[in-house]
Amino acid sequence: MVTIKGLPGAPGCVAGTAVLFAARALSTERRAVTDPQAEIDSLEAARKRYDSSLAALAQDSKNASAQTEILEAYREILQDDVFFDGVREVIRRESVCASYAVESKRAETEAMFAGMDDEYLKARAADINNVCRELMAEIQGVSSGDPFANVAGNELVVFAQDLTPADTVRLDRTRLAGMVTERGGVTSHTVILAKALGIPAVVGAGACLEQVHTGDGVLVDGAAGTAVVQADEETARAFVAKKEKSDRQRALFNASRTIAAHTLDGAAVRVNVNSGDAESIRTFDAAGCDGVGLFRTEFLYMSQTDYPSEEFQFEAYRDMAVKTAGKELIIRTLDIGGDKQLDYMNLPKEANPFLGYRAIRLCLDRVEVFRTQLRAILRASVYGDVKIMFPMIVNLEELLRARELLEEAKGELDRRGVPYNRNVPAGIMVETPAAVLLSDQLARHCDFFSVGSNDLIQYTTATDRQNERVQYLYDCCNISFLRAVHMACENAHAAGIPIGICGETASEPRLIPLWAAMGIDELSVAPGLVGRTKYIFSQLDRKKLQPVLKELLASADIGAVRTKMDGVLGEIGL
Ligand code: PEP
Ligand code: MG
Repeated sequence: MVTIKGLPGAPGCVAGTAVLFAARALSTERRAVTDPQAEIDSLEAARKRYDSSLAALAQDSKNASAQTEILEAYREILQDDVFFDGVREVIRRESVCASYAVESKRAETEAMFAGMDDEYLKARAADINNVCRELMAEIQGVSSGDPFANVAGNELVVFAQDLTPADTVRLDRTRLAGMVTERGGVTSHTVILAKALGIPAVVGAGACLEQVHTGDGVLVDGAAGTAVVQADEETARAFVAKKEKSDRQRALFNASRTIAAHTLDGAAVRVNVNSGDAESIRTFDAAGCDGVGLFRTEFLYMSQTDYPSEEFQFEAYRDMAVKTAGKELIIRTLDIGGDKQLDYMNLPKEANPFLGYRAIRLCLDRVEVFRTQLRAILRASVYGDVKIMFPMIVNLEELLRARELLEEAKGELDRRGVPYNRNVPAGIMVETPAAVLLSDQLARHCDFFSVGSNDLIQYTTATDRQNERVQYLYDCCNISFLRAVHMACENAHAAGIPIGICGETASEPRLIPLWAAMGIDELSVAPGLVGRTKYIFSQLDRKKLQPVLKELLASADIGAVRTKMDGVLGEIGL
């Protein structure tokens, strides 16, 4: 028996048969050539063939949008002129074969990305690696074949160094039951695909391929990030019980997606989803949630080479308003700056970007950019239950100025004779300690609050949310953070306005009992977590939890939060 430990990629348990997905034997040899132009021609022909095969795969997988998205991202890399100018230059300058030139540019790019901390950029580096690998296979005429061809069984678990989207699209979906990869992080494409397919995945498992053979029995627990090869009897027995529990829970969560969630003693909560990229919009399912609690608008600005026009934005907001089918749609105004930078905005280089020129600060400075967005959102408000939310507010003056500009935008639309909802609700993200401490005053000028817990934890604990070295301090069970949410909640309710949470803690199982006890009105979570969030909420007794909340808030004991909440979850069988 061998236990392989990796990162939890996608949840679920499967008992299946291992299939080794052998990395293709590609030559990276530095072969000198006498006719560089012929190499360039063969590179370009391979690029064309590979691009057509990606286009065909995208066409085949048009119902699995996560895959289409990735395949399109690969096609974009394949069209990157800067990268391929470099490859052609290596072939010409050094008179070497096309494969070697691709490999040398790939290695150069990988080295450049390796120094970066950002998980997203690391994942993009993996994409470039995959594209180069597949392109080299195309140049060398090495085909991947069907790895399932000679394997018996219908619950097949693929073991690979890494899986490209093209690899996974080529696998027979009816037999693919799990994935284990040596490489990749929790935001890798293997994970995105596994979640989209609803199968468990373990990623970043290190060198494990030598420990597995095609045909071996394997037990994969995606949530734990483990795979056991040739399990002994005792482990197999324990796994059966675990799998039954996991399957039962999954069925319960799925069935809860469409319920109106409330605690056993009748306190209701709306469970919305966070959205804000092409993928989440395409896959948005209004029937499976109570609305959109956070529509991040940055992607509209990031996909352009200049500020997006009012018309362009209006169409995107209108389409989403129509898709939400009468349920609430909270559109957050531009939250750029911090970790999100855009060339055309010419943002200053700052020593502390998270404390700098970002979000509402930038919008109140570049008022034309803000006005354009406000008009676009207002115009979309006639198509659904649209609400406007301002990020990063730290004082009353910012809120009042933002509201003033909103009124001015309404005036401009009036002059143009364009319809909009005159009473469109406007609220703020409570994501700074300043907003919490002023929440009694801010609430008087807001129609709702939404706690941005990702930033609120960061600013309350003075812990950079992206700095791995200090992640031990970025703790959602820190009582200071819980007291902050509680204070904002009390002040919102005293002013008669609702309060939601749209950071990641909205769906944190350990905290949902505390959100119920506080009386949080809305939780906005990742689409895949709506069912679980509603299920947990529906098993709780708010009255019983209120004294527990009071006791925890009066302490400073992070450990007690974990122990007590694990106890509550245990009582409901989680
Ligand atoms: C937050 O800060 O909790 C939030 C939802 O906003 P973002 O993650 O976009 O900063
Ligand atoms: Mg935020």
